[in-house]
Amino acid sequence: MATAFSDPIWRKPQAASTFQSLPNGERVDLAIVGGGIMGLSTALHAARLGMSVQVLEAGEIGQGASGLNGGQVIPGLKYDPEWLLEHFGPERGEALVNFAASTADAVFELIRDEKLAVPFVRNGWIQAAHTEAALKAAVNRDRQWRARGADVRLLDAAEIAAKTGAQGYLGGWLDRRAGVIDPLAYTSELARVATAAGVRIAERQRVVRLANAAGVWRILTENGLELQAKVVVLATNAYTDSLIPGLAQTIVPLHSFQIATAPLPPNLAATILPEGQAVSDSRRILVYYRKSADGRLVLGGRGRMALPTSASDWAHLEHALVRLYPSLSGVAIEKRWFGRVAMTPDHLPHVHEPEKGLLAVVGCQGRGVGLMTALGERIAGYLQSGDARQLPFPVSPIRPIPFHAFRQIGVAATIAWYRLLDALER
Ligand SMILES: Cc1cc2nc3c(=O)[nH]c(=O)nc-3n(C[C@H](O)[C@H](O)[C@H](O)COP(=O)(O)OP(=O)(O)OC[C@H]3O[C@@H](n4cnc5c(N)ncnc54)[C@H](O)[C@@H]3O)c2cc1C
Repeated sequence: MATAFSDPIWRKPQAASTFQSLPNGERVDLAIVGGGIMGLSTALHAARLGMSVQVLEAGEIGQGASGLNGGQVIPGLKYDPEWLLEHFGPERGEALVNFAASTADAVFELIRDEKLAVPFVRNGWIQAAHTEAALKAAVNRDRQWRARGADVRLLDAAEIAAKTGAQGYLGGWLDRRAGVIDPLAYTSELARVATAAGVRIAERQRVVRLANAAGVWRILTENGLELQAKVVVLATNAYTDSLIPGLAQTIVPLHSFQIATAPLPPNLAATILPEGQAVSDSRRILVYYRKSADGRLVLGGRGRMALPTSASDWAHLEHALVRLYPSLSGVAIEKRWFGRVAMTPDHLPHVHEPEKGLLAVVGCQGRGVGLMTALGERIAGYLQSGDARQLPFPVSPIRPIPFHAFRQIGVAATIAWYRLLDALER
């Protein structure tokens, strides 16, 4: 969340919504805890299905990962179609592959259909390969998605150099279904259309307790207000606290840090990502980057788990920037920020339903813009129909990760090891 050392470049549209205060003692069909993309997409679709919906956000809309992210709208999950079919079986696997293929469409269709004031470019995402092994993985991924008619293709070394302007890639994979958006504008606009659809949104209402009495949920906020609801959806993701016992221990929250240069001078802008694609590279500790609507290069990657205390905490990203683009060595870094990403041990999002009428969704693996937009619609459909086939992922029990309390030591050691391996492969 934004601190003195966290200053994103993303902007809310001028006509951002103003939200109501929370009426005490109200009763609604659906209460949603968390006003990020997940909570807001679920709210919007649930309201359109006829439910009365109240969203409760601890801070301001967009202050979680949804307003801080890299704005890369990438379809698919961490796994390729064949893996999903093998692990989930032909029926669920096929449904999951189709869902995964649709997640970027969900964002861009919403922007188009609802006329959202969101700066965007839909010209694809490049997965850039810096080793032969990464290139082989790209060939495999390309084969699987092309067999399903997806608009994807391989890039050779010359093509990737022309499309990125970056150094050091052997080739890569272009997924034209993807694109880039301003994520804070998108989250704010989601809130605006949800409000227009009848959703009530209250900011600065941290939920501190959930209690079920005779099938009615009582939701208490730190301001001492109470709301009642038939159903509660917890959409707190990487910022999950202790509202549902054990839930926070099912995820490993990691920090993703980002930097933005000053707007690039025209001569550099013409050679760096001239077509406006998003890029992720293939290193174990990957970096991802794109250009913003105001012509900056925005680059992100893993950051330390302790809260940053000075600009030097982003130095590793500045080094990565200059490694890729030596011509940017003199360009000012004007903005630095960070947010939390929720990882799960199986690298898949999880839908939990620990009690009747209580749902939680966690684990976006750093790819939640499309995923959470599309999943919100499915969750709303499930709440209305009770039909679990609406959900792309099976509802799973809450299984805390063993030795979760030691996760930071493990994560720090793994990151250090991966950085070493990446350095050796340069
Ligand atoms: C730096 C960074 C870069 C990323 N880059 C990308 C990218 O380029 N592409 C991509 O697809 N994904 C990216 N991601 C991941 C993506 O941002 C997330 O997957 C997505 O935004 C998750 O949305 P969400 O609604 O589930 O969670 P969030 O947006 O985090 O929303 C959770 C909300 O819950 C609120 N909350 C928590 N506890 C309570 C409580 N007790 N009461 C009330 N409210 C509460 C929080 O304040 C927060 O606003 C990135 C993430 C980060 C942090």
